[in-house]
Amino acid sequence: MIIVMASSRPEDVEHVVQKVEELGYKAHVIVGVERTVVAAVGDERGKERLTALESLAHVERVFPILKPFKLAGREVRHEDSIVECGSAKIGGGHFCVMAGPCSVESEEQVNSSAQIVKAAGATMLRGGAFKPRTSPYSFQGMELEGLKLLQAAGRATGLPVVTEATTPEQVGVVAEYADMIQIGARNMQNYGLLRAAGKSDKPVLLKRGMMSTINEWLMSAEYIMAEGNPNVVLCERGIRTFETETRNTLDIQAVPVIRKLSHLPIIIDPSHAAGRWELVLPMACAAVAAGADGIMVEMHPNPEVAMSDGQQSLKPKRFSMLMEAIRPLLQVMNKTL
Ligand code: PEP
Ligand code: MN
Repeated sequence: MIIVMASSRPEDVEHVVQKVEELGYKAHVIVGVERTVVAAVGDERGKERLTALESLAHVERVFPILKPFKLAGREVRHEDSIVECGSAKIGGGHFCVMAGPCSVESEEQVNSSAQIVKAAGATMLRGGAFKPRTSPYSFQGMELEGLKLLQAAGRATGLPVVTEATTPEQVGVVAEYADMIQIGARNMQNYGLLRAAGKSDKPVLLKRGMMSTINEWLMSAEYIMAEGNPNVVLCERGIRTFETETRNTLDIQAVPVIRKLSHLPIIIDPSHAAGRWELVLPMACAAVAAGADGIMVEMHPNPEVAMSDGQQSLKPKRFSMLMEAIRPLLQVMNKTL
């Protein structure tokens, strides 16, 4: 249920929160520009008892949230959310470019990657330390050592870092070294992992599962938010279709669809969608034109020797070309990098 406050005074909001909790629901306070609301979420049965709160003087209105995703939906928050990640802002007109290698491979590789993407204009550094690989025999990532190298490369260039946690147990250590926790496509419905990320105070990048619907994706965001972490950024990275020419099919329509359903920022990962480096630049341009709040791009100083995803990684020069291609489009779309 949405409880729209007639007063935003902290003691009035606190009073409503208390009442909601007494009725056995969890209260999430959402402060918007035009209004403050308390979203009461929990068991759908018996939620009508919350309507009694309408009799309080500092409550304007109580009404049900119709969509299954309660906190992620537009119903509770009309304005776009802006997620802050260190010096980077994502959403509400702020465009973010997360770039870097698929995997952290060595100190030299991650440092030079950071310098290259920073010089070209990226706003965040990516790099996997715990890698979710299809084969158990493929490179699994440098793990803790990789996290430390990524953090150091981010600090040296002033770029906040994003990296993946693949199990609930990894969330603590990833949150310690990274500025943003990535949840990969293969883990979008790993509910233990979602809950663990929801308990963290770091923002979360939630990739869409390759076989998940938009509704399922938003329900996964809901798992994170229900634990008290409102800082979720959605990432469309291609879905599996009958097409075999590309690794996945980029669902560019997800951008305007999400925009309508949710206040959360949405970014596009053209690298994993395409699986081929030559498609990355045009799809990055399409992402900006569709209204995305950012992109995540794989760049490797030397893709031929990459330990993962070399075929879809841009060389330094191509990454600079991509940045130059999107700049005029960002201006047209009224977005700032
Ligand atoms: C990645 O970002 O390197 C990755 C593994 O992505 P996805 O989860 O989208 O496959
Ligand atoms: Mn990759």
